[in-house]
Amino acid sequence: MIRTADVVVIGGGCMGASTACFLARLGVTVALVEKNYFASGPTGQSSAVVRQHYSIQQLVATSLRSLKVFQNFHEVVGGSPEFVKTGWLLLGDDGYAPTLRSLVEMQKKLGVNVELLSPTELNSLQPQTNVEDVVCVSYHPDTGYANPVATTKLFAERAQRDGAYLYENTMVTGIRAKGGRVHTVTTSKGEIDTPVIVNAAGPWGGKIGKMVGVDLPIGPTRHQIIVFQKPYDYWQPAMIYADLLQDSYFRPEGTDKFLVGASNEIFNHDKVNPDDYSGEADPETLPWSMERIRHRFPVMQRSSYRGGYAAVYDSTPDEQPIIGQMTEIDGFYCLVGWSGHGFKHSPAMGQLMAEMIITGTASDVDLSIFSPSRFREGFILNAKEF
Ligand SMILES: Cc1cc2nc3c(=O)[nH]c(=O)nc-3n(C[C@H](O)[C@H](O)[C@H](O)COP(=O)(O)OP(=O)(O)OC[C@H]3O[C@@H](n4cnc5c(N)ncnc54)[C@H](O)[C@@H]3O)c2cc1C
Repeated sequence: MIRTADVVVIGGGCMGASTACFLARLGVTVALVEKNYFASGPTGQSSAVVRQHYSIQQLVATSLRSLKVFQNFHEVVGGSPEFVKTGWLLLGDDGYAPTLRSLVEMQKKLGVNVELLSPTELNSLQPQTNVEDVVCVSYHPDTGYANPVATTKLFAERAQRDGAYLYENTMVTGIRAKGGRVHTVTTSKGEIDTPVIVNAAGPWGGKIGKMVGVDLPIGPTRHQIIVFQKPYDYWQPAMIYADLLQDSYFRPEGTDKFLVGASNEIFNHDKVNPDDYSGEADPETLPWSMERIRHRFPVMQRSSYRGGYAAVYDSTPDEQPIIGQMTEIDGFYCLVGWSGHGFKHSPAMGQLMAEMIITGTASDVDLSIFSPSRFREGFILNAKEF
């Protein structure tokens, strides 16, 4: 193990690997330390939808910047993240229509390829979709999903080609500070002296914070995904749906399956220990999700259940990330708390974190609203992102 590094990144999920990738290409000596293997945490179980629908402008900007990387991954990083462009549809009711109109306007101004559709237009695009209860629709043709494991490994491999040191099966066990600044990272394989640490440990981010005496409000929560086989007569183009009317999302999986996820309280949100939780789906989530996918796509009456699983979000009180340097201790940066929507931002966030560390600020996106101190200052972001 190297003895010193300019930066130690803790956590080899998509965020940590992307940060290491973009730091290394700027000539920074970076060590990426992962307690298991890359993408072994929530990243590897992500639905990995790459959408640009957000109400916070900064997140629209970072998701759009990331989309461009996914579309040109081969040139920017190398290799294929297996990005599948499907198109993404958001379905809402009467009450949501004015909000959706203003969000679409804002997203367009920021450069997102998005349009409002009427339910009839939706039906011409997706004839097998039941639109009887749908009032408003937005359509993002460029959206899709990627392979989160491939993406993360490619970031890590590129980082290594640019000089980064990668350590898998290496647990960070402690951090020592000197004169108010981080100084040494202790791991299961040795120590690394460094003036800068990036906490990209996802649901374990709170534990890493405690190593330097800071309290990060990250409450790991359990979320479930149910998988359905499409019947032979589901023939319309497979698109991703955020179905606000049913509190669910439907994501194609390859050519013959759908993943169903939800933001529903019954389906999700149990606070868990990320090292000890049930990875199986609960029996009651099967009928709940089957009812919803069959309501939206009646042809799915003939679908069959193909399994389910549960994974963990690194949830914060306002379901928004914690980004930036802690004021309590110099050199300790956070990139955690993505609360179930981080994957799509990882390419841009790696670039922006690298800039932030090197120049003190992220050039074209003001990320200060995600500052770690906001909870202490009582500033909670008020945006419910699906
Ligand atoms: C079921 C599910 C569906 C999702 N769907 C989407 C989606 O459709 N679109 C989207 O954008 N996002 C989605 N997300 C969220 C997204 O996957 C996460 O926000 C993102 O993967 C977080 O990446 P990360 O790198 O911050 O953290 P993680 O993937 O949690 O990585 C953190 C890493 O840190 C390591 N670590 C922890 N402690 C230590 C230590 N002491 N020493 C060394 N290493 C340590 C862990 O082993 C882990 O590998 C979903 C998440 C889940 C669970």
